Amino acid sequence: MNMGLTDNNNTTEGDYRTILVVDDEPDVCEYVTIVAEGVGFEATSITDGRSFASSYSRHFDCIVLDLTMPGMDGIELIRFLADNKSSASIILMSGVDSTILHSAEQLAKHHGLNIVGALKKPVSVDDLEKHLERVPHAHSQIAAPFRKTNAPIVDGPTETELREAIANKQLLLHYQPKINMSDGSLAGVEALVRWQHPEKGMIPPIAFIPLAEETGLIEELTTQVTEMAIEQCAEWLRQGERIKVAFNMSAKSLTDLDFPDHVWEAAKERGIDPSLVAVELTETAIVTELNRSLDILTRLRMKGFHLAIDDFGTGYSSMQQLQNLPFDELKIDQSFVKNAANDEEARKIIESTVELGHKLNMEVVVEGIEDKELWDVLRDCGCNQAQGFWMARPMPAGDILKWRDEWKLEE
Ligand code: C2E
Ligand code: MG
Ligand code: MG
Repeated sequence: MNMGLTDNNNTTEGDYRTILVVDDEPDVCEYVTIVAEGVGFEATSITDGRSFASSYSRHFDCIVLDLTMPGMDGIELIRFLADNKSSASIILMSGVDSTILHSAEQLAKHHGLNIVGALKKPVSVDDLEKHLERVPHAHSQIAAPFRKTNAPIVDGPTETELREAIANKQLLLHYQPKINMSDGSLAGVEALVRWQHPEKGMIPPIAFIPLAEETGLIEELTTQVTEMAIEQCAEWLRQGERIKVAFNMSAKSLTDLDFPDHVWEAAKERGIDPSLVAVELTETAIVTELNRSLDILTRLRMKGFHLAIDDFGTGYSSMQQLQNLPFDELKIDQSFVKNAANDEEARKIIESTVELGHKLNMEVVVEGIEDKELWDVLRDCGCNQAQGFWMARPMPAGDILKWRDEWKLEE
């Protein structure tokens, strides 16, 4: 352990991760350090916020930040990290009430920082370990330039590479089970796109969907995804399995009035009943161009496709929009779910969202269930379906039936 701030130069090399603990209470620094070292971090700690700026290094994989400190408080440090385009995973910690903690978390997110979570003191070893486990290894299986950070992408994919990838069919879908919370049965699957790059390995959607949207390549990407997802649904049907498949549509497709016809054609060609297909659209997508959105979404529903509002809680859709738009499924964003086990407010938001969804005749789905405790809490909140790493990570289509046959909900 090191109680003064030292700049660690070899931190991103090797297998271990590095962590900086900032808290004015030496006991807390020591406690966090011990837990972090226990799960493989090399820790540095600092008890004076004022020395933070002068000695800050970009090399830390994780920063644990106390919000209330004399000298320079956590909010100022957040601003500092944002100005310096920090790509570290950040865990906020504080004894202040959870509303303030939550606002600070939102502020940090709006600044584009990579927030792993906000913990209310006293923090249990269990909670701390869980959060630390979410910090990616600098050299994890995902190539560094594709990590989900706000750091400038120095070696990200170019438009030409992506165009070639689409033309050469390097995009593929993984499927994540959606599970009925009442009995643990398989409710359907969500198709999630990946790019199988010949040299760089598997690239996650976060690293190329924005590029596809900026360059207009998203149209071709969505067409491929639609066809692959519906084709897979047809393949399962040929095996005698009716598995409902959902895929994600980009906000950009909300300007394409022919989109519902394309999806319809893709289903008809393969003999797929639209009720086996769901289209997911993020909440942030629907606010612009409401008339066009309404036209496209209503036609999709009229043709019999299911329609889900994704990442609900991250956008600003009004009650009226929710009532007017023909969604029949509401997916609560992971950010609320993550804290539901120990944050009363997060749970209250979920409960009211479930109630709202049910009153508007929507199935309510939760994403981001990472342990059994969360499963129990979210089921008690009245959610209908769940997705999450605890039950199943996204997987190749060929693994789904095996997973279904082996998965059992342990009560
Ligand atoms: P999404 O539609 O909300 O998909 C859920 C994301 O949460 C997936 O990430 C999934 O792997 C991840 N996830 C599921 N369970 C857990 C969990 O328990 N813990 C955590 N930490 N994560 C979990 P993925 O596959 O990286 O996709 C990210 C986003 O990229 C998607 O979010 C969606 O918005 C977008 N996306 C994926 N495929 C497509 C696509 O074909 N077209 C478009 N336009 N967007 C896509
Ligand atoms: Mg989705
Ligand atoms: Mg989502």
